[in-house]
Amino acid sequence: MSYTVAVRALCEFVAKRGDLDLRFTPSPSALEGIEGHAKVAARRGAGYQRELNLEGEYRELKVRGRADGFDATVPRLEEIKTHRGELERQPDNHRQLHWAQAKIYGWLACQRFALEEIELALVYFDIDRERETVIRARHDRNALERFFTATCEAFLSWAQQEAKHALQREQALASMKFPMADFRPGQRALAETVYKAARLERPLLLQAPTGIGKTLGTLFPLLKALPAGKLDKVFFLTAKTPGRQLALDALARLSPGLDTPLRALELIAREKSCEHPDKACHGESCPLAAGFYDRLPAARAKALEQVDGERSLLDAETLRRLALAEGICPYYLGQEMARWSDVVVGDYNHYFGLGGMLHALAQEQRWRVGVLVDEAHNLVERGRLMFSAELDERSVRELARSAPKGLRRGFERLARAFRTQRQALAPSAGEAPLEGVLEEVPSSLVGELTGLTARLGEHLATQLDEPVDPELMRFYLQALGFARVLELFDARHFQCEFERLPGKPRETLRLKLSNLVPGPWLAPRFEAARACVLFSATLAPTDYFIDLLGLPAQTAWFDVASPFAAVQLKVRTVSRISTRYRDREASIEPIVELIQAGYAARPGNYLAFFSSFDYLERVAERLAEKAPGLVQWRQSRRMGEEQRRAFLERFAPGGQGIGFAVLGGAFGEGVDLPGDRLVGAFIATLGLPQFNAVNQALRQRLGALFGASQGYRYAYLYPGLTKVIQAAGRVIRDEGDRGALWLIDDRFDTAEVRGMLPSWWEIERA
Ligand code: SF4
Repeated sequence: MSYTVAVRALCEFVAKRGDLDLRFTPSPSALEGIEGHAKVAARRGAGYQRELNLEGEYRELKVRGRADGFDATVPRLEEIKTHRGELERQPDNHRQLHWAQAKIYGWLACQRFALEEIELALVYFDIDRERETVIRARHDRNALERFFTATCEAFLSWAQQEAKHALQREQALASMKFPMADFRPGQRALAETVYKAARLERPLLLQAPTGIGKTLGTLFPLLKALPAGKLDKVFFLTAKTPGRQLALDALARLSPGLDTPLRALELIAREKSCEHPDKACHGESCPLAAGFYDRLPAARAKALEQVDGERSLLDAETLRRLALAEGICPYYLGQEMARWSDVVVGDYNHYFGLGGMLHALAQEQRWRVGVLVDEAHNLVERGRLMFSAELDERSVRELARSAPKGLRRGFERLARAFRTQRQALAPSAGEAPLEGVLEEVPSSLVGELTGLTARLGEHLATQLDEPVDPELMRFYLQALGFARVLELFDARHFQCEFERLPGKPRETLRLKLSNLVPGPWLAPRFEAARACVLFSATLAPTDYFIDLLGLPAQTAWFDVASPFAAVQLKVRTVSRISTRYRDREASIEPIVELIQAGYAARPGNYLAFFSSFDYLERVAERLAEKAPGLVQWRQSRRMGEEQRRAFLERFAPGGQGIGFAVLGGAFGEGVDLPGDRLVGAFIATLGLPQFNAVNQALRQRLGALFGASQGYRYAYLYPGLTKVIQAAGRVIRDEGDRGALWLIDDRFDTAEVRGMLPSWWEIERA
C-alpha cells in the first residue's frame, strides 16, 4: 500500500536532530515570507521558474513537494528561506534541515529533467535589509539519489506502519456502530445531516438545542465519512475547556466499538502546558528543549504504542506523562503528534488563528480535513480577537527607561509619538472622552513602531546567548502581532480604537486595531476544509453568522427541532420593568420582589443574570436585606477555576438558593445543571453591549457593510439575544426537567425579539 509524504515532512522526520531552539524565531509572518519569496524571484532571470512541483517514488513511498525556484539554464535549484537577524546565529540543525530539503528536491529535479549534475542553493533572504545570502553546492545525480534513498529508507518502516493504520482505521470506521443503545430525540436527524453535508462537501450551520447530544451526534457521522478517502483527519475545535472534555468523553465512548483504535489527541495552549514558564524555548535555557529532536523519535513511538496498544486517548495529561518520561517538552510533543493523529481536539485558534498550526499542517500535508466547530456562536467574537491587536503606552514608557542603551532612543521616540497622539485626543481642558475611534491608524506612531521593531528584532537575534528581558520580549511579540494585524487592516473590516487609561503620574494611551468582521480571514479556512460543521444552540439568524464569519453563500442550514415540550419550561416576560441604564435604580425593588415571589412559589436553585457586576451587586444586596434567610451566592470579577467550580457546586441536587451571575460570563453557557440542580432563571437584561462611541462606530460600519437596518441588529441585538438564549438554556437539560424562566424587560415583548426566541417556548406575560 502506498504512502504519500511531503518533502518537508519527510526531512523533518528523518533529518531534524539536536535541540528545540526558537531563538532564531519569531520568524517573519506568512505574508512577509510570501513577499520575500516574490522579491527573490523578481531578481532572477527570464528562465527562472517559481514554485516547481516535483515528485518521486521509493518503494511504496510517494514523495512530493514544491521547490521554491529552478533555473534550467544553469541548472540550479533554490530553496528560499526568509529570516530576521544575523544568519550566523541560526542554529546548525536548522541549516542541516534546509540542506536535506534542497537535496531531496535536487534528486527529484535530476530525475525529472534527466540531469547528471545540479547546483543547489540555499537562499537566505533578510526581510528587513532585503539582502540575500546564497550558499551554493554542486551535487551529482548519484550522490543525490543515495541521499534520497537513505532518507526514504529511514522513514519507510514508519510509513508502512502509518499506511497499515490508515487501512485498518478505514475498515473499523466503516463498520462503526453508534455507541449508545439509541439516538436521543433529534440526534439521528442531526447525525444524518452532518454526514450528508460531509459527503456533499458543503459547509453546514447546525442549530440544535442543548441536551440533544451534539458532540457525539456530530463526531460520529464525520468519523463515518473518513473511510473511502473522503477525509484524512477530523479537527474538533472548541471555544472553551469544557467543550474539549465533552469531545474527549465522546471519543472514549466510541473507542471500545472499534477494531482499530482511533488516534485522538488533545491540544492545549502553550501557557497551560509549559513546564518551565520562567525559561525560554531553547536547549541552553530549558532542559525539556535540550536534545528535543534526539529524543523525539522514542517519545513519538511510545505515544503511538499507548494509543494503538492500550487504546488510550492522547489527552493533555497522558501526553505530559509520556513527554516528561522521555525528558522532552509536552507542548511541542503535542504539536508533533498532530501529524499522526486521526482526530485532534483543540481550540478555535489552532485552526482559525493567524498562523493556526492545524491549518498550516493541513496545507503543507494536503490533508482533507473535516472541521467541527463547537458552540460556534462564539466564533464571531473569538474570530475578532484573533485578528485584533493592541499596544500600550505604559510599557513603551517603562522600556524607554529600562531597555538596553542602543534601543532606548527608539522607545523614547515611540513614547513621544504616543504622547503627541494622546494630547491630540484631549485638545482642550474640558472633559475628554476616555475611549473612542480614530479615523485612521496614526502614521507617525506606526512609523516609529516599525523602525523600533526592526531594531529590536536585530537586537534579540544577536543576543542568542544572553538571557532576554521578559518585558522586552513581551513587547516585541506584541509589536509583531500589531504589525501583523496592520498588514490586514482596512477601514471596512477594522477600526482603530483608543482608550485613555487613568494613571499616576500621568494617564496613558492604549491603541487597538480591532477587527469587526473576521469573515474575510476565516473564509479561506472554511474553504480549505473538505467538510465543515458549525454547531450551537444559538445560530440564528443565519445571515448574521454567514456575513460575519465569511461562510460561503451555499452554506446549508439545519435547525434540529427541540426534544423539549412547552410544558417543561414556564416562560414569562416581565414588561413592567425596564432594565435600561437610566431605569436601573427604579428596577431594583421590583426585581427583588419578582425573585422572592418566584422562589416562594417553588423553592429550589435559581440563577439570576444581570448585565453588569454593579447591577448584580445592587439587586443581591437588596435581596439580602429583604430576605436574609434566602441563601445566595454571587459571581465576582476575575474568578479563578477553583472559585468557579465552588460557585457551581452550590447548585446541589435538592438545594435552595439564588446564584447571581453576569450574562455572557462564565455561567451563562457551557454549564450543565440537570434535574433540580437548577429549577429556574431570572434574566434581567437583553444582553445588549454598552452604548458607547466604540460600539456606535461598530454599528455604523456593520450597517455600511451589510445594510443600514442591520447595523443595530448586528452590533447590539443579535449578540445580546444569543447570550439570553444561551443563559436560558441552562434550565432545561433533558426530557425530565421542569423549570421556570423570567425575561425581565419590556423589550422582550416586541415582535422582533419574540420572533428570535426558541419556537418551542410558550411565552406568557407576567
Ligand atoms: S517546557 Fe516551556 S520553556 Fe521549555 S520548551 Fe516547553 S514551552 Fe518552551
